[in-house]
Amino acid sequence: MCATTHANISADMRPRRKAVWRLVALILSVSVSLLATSAHAQTNPKVLARVALLSDPHVNRATNGLEASFKGRFEKAIEQVNAAKVDFVLIAGDLTQSGQPEEFGDFKAHLNALRAPVWFVPGNHDVGNKFNSGKTNGTVNAERVVMCEKLVGAAWFAKKKNGIRIIGITSSLLGSGLAQETEMWKFLEQELAPQSKAPTILFMHYPLFLKDLDEPGGDYYNVEPGPRKRLYHLLQQGGVRTVLSGHLHRTLINHRDGMLFLSTAPISFGLPRGKQPEGWTLITIYENGEAKEAIHNLEAPE
Ligand SMILES: [Zn+2]
Repeated sequence: MCATTHANISADMRPRRKAVWRLVALILSVSVSLLATSAHAQTNPKVLARVALLSDPHVNRATNGLEASFKGRFEKAIEQVNAAKVDFVLIAGDLTQSGQPEEFGDFKAHLNALRAPVWFVPGNHDVGNKFNSGKTNGTVNAERVVMCEKLVGAAWFAKKKNGIRIIGITSSLLGSGLAQETEMWKFLEQELAPQSKAPTILFMHYPLFLKDLDEPGGDYYNVEPGPRKRLYHLLQQGGVRTVLSGHLHRTLINHRDGMLFLSTAPISFGLPRGKQPEGWTLITIYENGEAKEAIHNLEAPE
């Protein structure tokens, strides 16, 4: 009897135990999937925008030689950018070969083929070279900056798109001592005051530095140490995480204090010639302010 009773009790308990185990398994699987979702959210924050960074198209009217090939490369880059279905496009200067009004007109005409909104800043070929410390070789001047503004748009600006703040500046002005430089600093100080939390891109033609924030000036390729440190302080103050440029005609990527500093490959010609591919960079901006880059060459590597 006793054994039978025990057997009966066990038989009665089995479905209940099964139900309890099912419940435990369900709770565990829900918790695991919730954990996985939150880990996914942590490792894969929401994408705010996919941005095409182009630079140095050097638009010109040459009919032969190297310069004549730039037009086709600009068209090809635009084709690739359209196919990539980006949210917006930034062009980091050297829009033209020599800053002639007809070249600026041709540059604008190229932009009609772009499907996404586009913003751009001038480079040294558009408004003149920066002043190198201790040398008097700066060729940027007020007239060229004004002419460029009249022909294609503002020399510095801030825009909002997809929840991202986009700041563009004319980096040839940095260290020039021109009245426009003073105005541009006022704009930057206001714009990069600490209140904004929006992921921010600052883009300009010259890279802020090549290897190190403390590297010397007097170089053709970087921003001079004085304005470099002043701008760096403002970038930190304003919470900027992404600083984009061109000018080098090759890709350069640096990370410092949580910021990405990226100079993109050029549209027109790589430097050293034949050794660096022409191309552009796709930058993905995430809700947490992070940015990730993917390099696109105009020609497939051989
Ligand atoms: Zn260039």
